[in-house]
Amino acid sequence: MKDDGYRFVNHYHCPRCYTRWSSSDSCTCNDRCPTCNVEIEPHESEDIYYDELARQDLIEQAVRAALTFGLPIRSRAKEMLEDYGYSWTSEDERYMLEFTEKEEANRP
Ligand SMILES: [Zn+2]
Repeated sequence: MKDDGYRFVNHYHCPRCYTRWSSSDSCTCNDRCPTCNVEIEPHESEDIYYDELARQDLIEQAVRAALTFGLPIRSRAKEMLEDYGYSWTSEDERYMLEFTEKEEANRP
């Protein structure tokens, strides 16, 4: 998991000047419009932490299935994430390798 203190990406849309912007924060808090300085609530917030957990969960499932059935691990994991609308990143690659190693060590 990333440990940068940010959990949410908040998206804002200023009703006065129609400026749109996004910012990362540890909460779904209000921000000030960079153009007219009005305080605004985010109209949408993405939970990065939840997203990260969901990705790791999918990768773990894919790695276990691939090891059990002797399938190619990377393409299995990649396919799994893409089925859920995520694109494959180097972070996923790292997690996949790390988890594969752990799983293989636990196998007889
Ligand atoms: Zn504004």
